[in-house]
This record gives sequence, structure tokens and C-alpha cells, in this order.
Amino acid sequence: MRDYFIAGNWKMFKTPTEGAAFVKELSETLKGTSQKVMVAPSFASLDAVGKALHGSSVLLGAQNMAAAEEGAHTGEVSPIMLKDLGVSVVILGHSERRAIYGETDELINTKVKLALKHGFEVILCVGETLEEREAGKVEEVVNQQLLSGLEGVTEEMLAKVVIAYEPVWAIGTGKTATPQDADSVHQVIRQTIGKTYSSATAEKLIIQYGGSVKPGNAKELMAMPNIDGALVGGASLKVEDFTAIVNFNR
Ligand code: 13P
Repeated sequence: MRDYFIAGNWKMFKTPTEGAAFVKELSETLKGTSQKVMVAPSFASLDAVGKALHGSSVLLGAQNMAAAEEGAHTGEVSPIMLKDLGVSVVILGHSERRAIYGETDELINTKVKLALKHGFEVILCVGETLEEREAGKVEEVVNQQLLSGLEGVTEEMLAKVVIAYEPVWAIGTGKTATPQDADSVHQVIRQTIGKTYSSATAEKLIIQYGGSVKPGNAKELMAMPNIDGALVGGASLKVEDFTAIVNFNR
């Protein structure tokens, strides 16, 4: 069976000082937890948070990554720098990167392949807007983002890819997809991977749900057959809430 993977995306919150203090407390409250857990601070906080996580099993994630190894790319952060900071997981294709910063499927695909080349685990985010959902385009949009994002990714490389299904209308809105609605999209993702790669690979694929995950709804979401974890925004900013989500099955 698949293991759960609970990831926190801090977005543009927490200074380096706040982030370091947070993960020290989190590592304490998570002692004895076997769940796979990650936190993704902003680039500016990676160093301090990484140092504060020393000796902890909580993984250090980045929220984005440049599409190049080095060069004249003002304001960007390369995979080599992230590696040096102890980052092991990179979130790519988040809807905020797509919507606010104009990231295309093509750019995201370049980043996915580069991250995998450098040995990172990748969380590739996909998800439809409310408009697309109301137009009945959920499957089309999700499959398009999924297959474009994974273009050129081999079955072997896919072992280091996690998919996060984050319906845009559920992010930061307090509106969560019902467990059944979320699971049906996760099932579509798994079927698409099954058709494109193999059913064995599809069975192993970790698919996280993201969008207003809270201590109060984590358990029922995680109980669904195709939901294997969560990508948590707002509720990952409080130790108590994030710990409760990580320990949803206790
Ligand atoms: P919220 O949990 O705040 O809705 O954010 C979800 C998200 O975008 C995680 O990447």
C-alpha cells in the first residue's frame, strides 16, 4: 500500500527567524510520528529552517525552482543552490505560480525534468479553476496539466514524482472539495498515469489533495482510496493544526 505524505506549503509567510522557531517546535510535537512530512518555507527562510531541522525527519521543500542551473537569471534560485541548502523536495506548477506569475505547462515541464535530473522529489500541482469546473472541464484541464508537466519523464523517473491535486477554487477559500469529488479526480489522475505508463506505476503514485485542508477534514479526505496525503497551505502555519493533520489517523 501507499504511504501518506503530508506537506506544508508556507507560501510567502514566516521570516527565517519565525520559520526556524516553528520547525523546532514542530519536530518536538512530531516525535514518534512515522508519517512522511515536509515543510516548504520561502527561499529566504530555507537556510535557517534547514539548520533548525537538523536531526529531524521532517523534509525540507522548496516552493519553486528556476528552469536553469545557473546564469543571468535575476531573482531566480537554481537547483544547485537548493541542493546545497539541503532541500530534497520541490513543489512545481502551483496554481499561484501559474496564475500570478504566468508559468506555462511548458516551463513547468522544463523545471520538472531539471529537478528530477538533480535528484529532487517533485510535487507537481494540477487543478482546475471554478470556471473550468462549471464548464465541465475538470478532467480535460487536469489531464492536460498532468501530461504536459510530465512530458519526457520516464517511468523510472516517475518514482520521484508526487502529484498534488489542488482545485484552484478550494485554495485559501475555506471551500474544500468533498472527499468524493476529490477522490474522483484523483482516480482520473491515477487512470491517466496507468494508461500512459503502467498500472503498477499508477498504483504506486502518491496523489496529495490540497485546498483548505484542516484538522477537521483531514481524516475523511485521507480515508478515500485515491487520496494519499495533503498539500496544506494556511493550516500548515500553526504547529497545532499541522500536527493534527499529520496525525489524522491517530
Ligand atoms: P490552503 O490550504 O490555504 O487552501 O492552500 C492550499 C495550497 O495552495 C497548498 O499548496
